[in-house]
Amino acid sequence: MNLPWRDYKTALFERYGEQVYRIAIDGGFSCPNRQNGGGGCVYCDSLGSSSAYQRPFEGGYARKGELMPGIDTFIGEVPHLSIAERLESITAQIERGKAFIDRRYGPCAKSIYFQAFTNTFDTLENLKLLYDQSLIDGPYKELIVSTRPDTVPNEVLDLLASYRSQVEAVSLELGLQSGNAKTLKFINRGHTVDEYLDACLRAKERGLKVTTHLILGLPGEGEGEILESARVVRESSPDALKIHHLQIVVGTLLAKLYEEGKVKAPTFEEHLENTLLLLRHIPATVVIQRLVSETPRHRLVAPRNFGDKAHFIKTLKEEMEQRGVCQGDAL
Ligand code: SF4
Repeated sequence: MNLPWRDYKTALFERYGEQVYRIAIDGGFSCPNRQNGGGGCVYCDSLGSSSAYQRPFEGGYARKGELMPGIDTFIGEVPHLSIAERLESITAQIERGKAFIDRRYGPCAKSIYFQAFTNTFDTLENLKLLYDQSLIDGPYKELIVSTRPDTVPNEVLDLLASYRSQVEAVSLELGLQSGNAKTLKFINRGHTVDEYLDACLRAKERGLKVTTHLILGLPGEGEGEILESARVVRESSPDALKIHHLQIVVGTLLAKLYEEGKVKAPTFEEHLENTLLLLRHIPATVVIQRLVSETPRHRLVAPRNFGDKAHFIKTLKEEMEQRGVCQGDAL
C-alpha cells in the first residue's frame, strides 16, 4: 500500500529484504519512576505494556470482554524476581513468542524487543546477562530496548553498542511522550526534554538507532503543543517515531482523574487531526512505526469507541490524500 508517510513495514522490507517480526519480552525490570513513592507516569499501570501473549492470566477478562477490576488493583510495584528466574523467564517467553509468531505468519525473521517497563534500569552486570540470554538462540535481526531518557548512562549505551556485532541493528526506544515541560510535569514523567535530547545524542554517537515515543491527546495539549513536540523530534533526529493516542487504562492515576471528570480521552476524529498535523511537521525520512495505541478492551477505560487500527490507518491515508498532504510537507 502506498502511504503518505514512511511506513515501518516498507522500511523493514527495504532494509532486510523480508518481513521481520518482534518477539516482545518482559525482562523483569522495574522503573525508576515507580520506585521510592515516585508513583509512575499517570497513564501507566503496573502491567507495563507487555504483549498480550505474554499475559495469559488476563485471558478470562479478555474472553468475557469484561473490564478488569479497577483503580487500586494494578497500581504499585512490579513483583521482584531473582536474576536466575528472570533469565529462565526470558528463555520461556522467547519460545512462546517464536511459536506465536510462526503460527500467525509462518517461519520468518525476528527481532528481540525488551518492551515492558524500563529495560536499562539495572546493574550493568545484570543487563549484560539479560541481553546475552535473549540473543542466545539467534540470529536475530535487531535488538530493541525500550527505556526512559534519564536511565541510559554512557556505560549502558556502550554495552548496547557492543551487541552491534551480533545483530544488524541495536535500537533504543525512548519515551519522550511530549516535548512540553508543563505536560511532562502533569503526566509525572520525571524527566526533562533536555534529558531526552542528550540521550538521543549519546545513543547516536554510538551507532544506536533511536525510536521516539509520543502520546497525542494529553491533557492541556493542542495544536501549539503538538508543533512543539514535532520541533523537539526534529531537533533530536530519531530514526523512527511511535505515535500513541492517549488511552486511559484501568488501575492508573489517569483513570481516577477520568472518573472524577478532570481529564478526557481523544476521540478518533481528534486523533486523526492531531496525527495529521504532527506528521506534516516530521521529516519524511523518519520511519513511522506506530500510529495508535492498542490497549486491549478489557483494560481500556477510554476511549471505548475508537475503532481498530486498520480503520484508523485507512481513514488517515484517505484524509491525507484528499487534502493533498504528506509527511514532512509543512516543513
Ligand atoms: S516510564 Fe514507563 S514503566 Fe515507568 S512509570 Fe512511566 S510508563 Fe510506566
